[in-house]
Amino acid sequence: MPAGQRRDVVIVGAGHGGAAAAIALRQRKFAGSIAVLGAEPDLPYERPPLSKEYLAGDKPFERLLIRPASFWAERGVAMLTGREVVAVDPAARTVTTADGEAIGYGALVWATGGSPRRLTCTGHDLIGVHAVRTRADVDRLAGELPATTRVCVVGGGYVGLEAAAVLRKLGKAVTVLEAQTRVLARVAGAALSDFFHAEHRARGVDLRLGAIVECIEEADGHATGVRLADGEVITCETVIVGVGIVPAVSPLLLAGAEGGNGVVVDAHGRTSLPDVYAIGDCAAHANRFAGGATIRLESVQNASDMATTVARAIVGDPAPYDAVPWFWSNQYDLKLQTVGLSTGHDAAVLRGDPAARSFSVVYLKAGRVVALDCVNAVRDYVQGRALVVGGAAVDPAALADAAVPLKDLARG
Ligand SMILES: Cc1cc2nc3c(=O)[nH]c(=O)nc-3n(C[C@H](O)[C@H](O)[C@H](O)COP(=O)(O)OP(=O)(O)OC[C@H]3O[C@@H](n4cnc5c(N)ncnc54)[C@H](O)[C@@H]3O)c2cc1C
Repeated sequence: MPAGQRRDVVIVGAGHGGAAAAIALRQRKFAGSIAVLGAEPDLPYERPPLSKEYLAGDKPFERLLIRPASFWAERGVAMLTGREVVAVDPAARTVTTADGEAIGYGALVWATGGSPRRLTCTGHDLIGVHAVRTRADVDRLAGELPATTRVCVVGGGYVGLEAAAVLRKLGKAVTVLEAQTRVLARVAGAALSDFFHAEHRARGVDLRLGAIVECIEEADGHATGVRLADGEVITCETVIVGVGIVPAVSPLLLAGAEGGNGVVVDAHGRTSLPDVYAIGDCAAHANRFAGGATIRLESVQNASDMATTVARAIVGDPAPYDAVPWFWSNQYDLKLQTVGLSTGHDAAVLRGDPAARSFSVVYLKAGRVVALDCVNAVRDYVQGRALVVGGAAVDPAALADAAVPLKDLARG
């Protein structure tokens, strides 16, 4: 692209949200020019398999691509990969890339996701310490695995637990270190945490709760173990750090956009800067399913649905963001599907028997269904969605009877 070229829409970030925004604009007959600038060298690809099939070696990278190169070319979407945006000038309506090029925009869509939060302790940057956020992260990690017998995973969230499951399947000795009193504490209720804890223990994972990392030990610049605050050293050749992300919003905030933990957007994805929108992991928005609280969601659903919202605003057919959150996680032979947000629930009802490895947890707040976690229970997930969307008031005893289909309760 020649210096100074202008595009009608510039999308920064070639991940789930950026790709979905370009697709949604063209689906809505947007005829203007579109450029997508992505810091990674690859065309947009699916991130969830990174801690699942791709890490396991079960899916080649080509099958992760959201669309083939020809798709973007046919729709006149300029996919400019390997181009990191470092500055935004809202008055001049330009973004500047790391190589110093200024590109003008009519509308700007910020879809940058986040960078993995790093440990700050000694040894956090040693060879053998990995994040799982990009293809490059996983390629580096996978390249080390043949010489690895012991892996330490720091963080018992979804990414850490999924990686642990894959590594056990690959025959590695795996320790998971979780600082909280249960795994998945940020995203799930206690019953689900206990279930996944037991599953990982049963599969031979050494899962430690309340484990505080003091530092990473080393020999010749390579990680050799993780030292805990109580002095114990867990010996390993590879350390995986899965402790969340930091939203990649610095250039926007420096340009004056409102935000902090993410950039704040309204119901149409608009930031406080003119014609600048933000979507996906980096966008803090008021969410009805969180009781109107301003939150960031980290899910494919949120990135895709916010992309549609913003595309509609850009083409002049606005509709406020009101999508029900959903998410999935695969660990071993367990398929977890969640709908709604369980944060702040005051009751949780178990449907089915965790020992049978097919059950659901229904979360209620003030008597109304706010979320479901379904493990190998697709029917509950599909039918329970309406209960969450409608905020249905359902008798907990009826919910607990797994013989009663949730669709029957939705009518009540
Ligand atoms: C290992 C893993 C497993 C996951 N599993 C699931 C799952 O099972 N289900 C689910 O729903 N979600 C899952 N997620 C979350 C999901 O992938 C994210 O929520 C989703 O990718 C968010 O889309 P996004 O467009 O906001 O960000 P991303 O997909 O992260 O894309 C952002 C892109 O912007 C680029 N970028 C950043 N800064 C700049 C800049 N300044 N200039 C140019 N480009 C920039 C980044 O390099 C990146 O390519 C998983 C995530 C990870 C990492």
